[in-house]
Order: sequence, then structure tokens, then C-alpha cells
Amino acid sequence: MTVPDRLLLGSGPSPVPRRVLDALAQPTIGHLDPAFAEIMERCKDRLRQVFQTTNDVTMPVSGTGSAGMEAMVVNFIRPGDRVVCGVHGLFGERMADEMRRNGAEVVVVEGEWGRALDTARLVDALDERTAALFVVHGETSTGVRQPLDGLAAACREHDALLMVDCVTSLAGAPIGIDEEGVDVAFSGTQKCLNVPPGLAPFTAGERALERLEPGRSWYLDLTLLLGYWSGGGGGRSYHHTAPINLIYALDEGLQIVLEEGLEARWVRHLDAHERLRGELAERGFERLAPEGEALSSLLCVRVPDGIDEAAVRRSLLLDHGVEISGGLGPLAGQVWRIGVMGEGARPEAQDRLLTALDKLL
Ligand SMILES: *Cc1c(COP(=O)(O)O)cnc(C)c1O
Repeated sequence: MTVPDRLLLGSGPSPVPRRVLDALAQPTIGHLDPAFAEIMERCKDRLRQVFQTTNDVTMPVSGTGSAGMEAMVVNFIRPGDRVVCGVHGLFGERMADEMRRNGAEVVVVEGEWGRALDTARLVDALDERTAALFVVHGETSTGVRQPLDGLAAACREHDALLMVDCVTSLAGAPIGIDEEGVDVAFSGTQKCLNVPPGLAPFTAGERALERLEPGRSWYLDLTLLLGYWSGGGGGRSYHHTAPINLIYALDEGLQIVLEEGLEARWVRHLDAHERLRGELAERGFERLAPEGEALSSLLCVRVPDGIDEAAVRRSLLLDHGVEISGGLGPLAGQVWRIGVMGEGARPEAQDRLLTALDKLL
């Protein structure tokens, strides 16, 4: 079987380095093998370092980023709970939908697609009945980074949990779970971690665990998952068969991040974002997010009038092997979303895109 050569500069998946592919190709061993337990422990420890948390409950949930979202809701939100949900893009909309499906009373704080939400509006929407505040830290549909300033303090004042989607920001843009006071967060492997899709890094702190309910989902029930991931006196018990090889791959992907160092990696993403933004601006593509609200790991630009964006994107992919993403929802047909994620956040990768683009335009 042969897969075509592609440079993944879209909204995810992102380029997977050889080291990660090699880890994935290691022999499968048993999910209860003590040798695998060691890999699990190491993976949890590396995940804590990348999330910048001391949370004991930190592990990958089986399934893509959306499984992490669902694990957050089914374990920590009860039917009837009042939840404030920031919505200024597709992923905020998705969470509001998920919360409603789980019986929550969702109070939406809506904002323009392409702008950050005013944190004061989020804080004002909290009241003494509020169980949680949810925001998307990196909105992949618009390339906006949502500031978290003051949210944790306000949530504590109202005895609410702060819940964050950091799928596209983790390991690409500054986020520290403990420092920001985030109570529950989830991510995905195929964005800035450069690991194939299929796992959702997940972390939950003490304030959240005090409210842990028997989850309404059997598969995503945190207590059952922890019986496998943490063991306890009687050792690890079977819940579902872990995706062994994907966990090898995540372990290696996290190690690559830690070798570079988080701070250095954030700076590299920011530099790569600014470089590409400058190059594209010279060609007439302006960034959607204003200065100070942009997410370094995803550059969303307006496509100038007169360019058939879908045709150019298709040719970039099929004739030049470079994938970028189009717009979603109200931005469909109007923008391009270019991933600046891990190995994609390098001048060599960006030059391949720019060279191909210059041939096409
Ligand atoms: C990609 C993404 C998700 C969903 O992840 P899947 O792996 O597609 O399930 C959720 N939130 C954000 C911000 C994302 O970018």
C-alpha cells in the first residue's frame, strides 16, 4: 500500500515526524503487560509536563479530541446544570451542542467569528447556580486565541469549574493548566503534538474531582478509566483495550516536545506564524484575527476577491501535495486556515506552500 506524499498544513492532522511513525510501528504488546504499564506511566508524566500541571488525573482518553470533550461533559456536568459556554467559532458551537445533549442549561456568550470574547462578558454571565464556564482556548475555525485572564478567579468565586478546549493550543501556544487555574481540559494528538489522530490528552484537578459523578457514558466513565490508568491497590484492571501503538506514538511525540522545551516551542510557533502572515499579506491575504488575538498555531486569512479558493486549494493538494484548509460555517468560501503546528511551524514547510501558491496565482 502506498500513500501519496503530503505536507499537512491544514487545521489537522499535522505532519507526523519519522520518530513518531517509528514508535507507532513497534510491536504491539499486551495492554496489561508490566512493560506497557511503564510506558503508560511515562506517557502520563510527559503529558503532565506538557499541560504544565501536577494533576494526578492526566492521561490520554481513547478517541479523537471530541472524545476528550465528551469525557469532560459526561463526568463533570449533570443534567440541569447551568453552564456558561463561550461561542465564537465552530468548536464553541460544538461544545454548546454537546452540553445540551447532556441536559445542561446552556447560557451562550456569543461573539464574532474571528475575535476573542471579552472576558468581562463571560464573568458577568456567571451566577451562584453556575456549575461551569467553558471556553475554547484556541479556536481552530477562526485562528483566535481566547485569553483566560481572570476566568479562574471568577469561577472560584461562583464555585464553578473552568473547562477549556486546548486541542489546537497545547504544545503550540502558551497554556499552563495550573497557572491559569483550569479545572478540566482536553486536547487532541493531531494538532501541535504531531501524532496521528486517535487520542485525547485529558486532565482534571481536585476541584473537578470533588464533583465527579458516575459518568452517563460507560466508555468514558472516568472512574472506570482510572481503574486501568491508575490501578490502585489491586493493580490495573481491564476496562477497554488501550490503543497500544497510538500510546507509543504519543509518548514519543511528547518526548520530542520536551526535548525542544515548551517555551522554545511557543516562540518558534509565534515566529513561524508571523513569518507566514507577512509572506501572505504581501500576496494580498490578510489575517482574520486582529493583533493580540491571534492563535500562533493556526493562521486564518481572508482570500482576496477574484481567487477561486476551492480550486486553488484543490490544486495545492493534488498537484503540489500541500494540504491547507478552507473556511467553516459563516466563513466557508472566504478564508483559508493554515496550520502552524509542530513540524509545520518551520520555514522550510512554509516555503513549500508559498512556492506552490506562487505558481498557482
Ligand atoms: C480539532 C479540534 C477538536 C476536535 O478534535 P477531533 O480530533 O476532530 O475530534 C476540538 N476542538 C478544537 C479547537 C479543535 O481544533
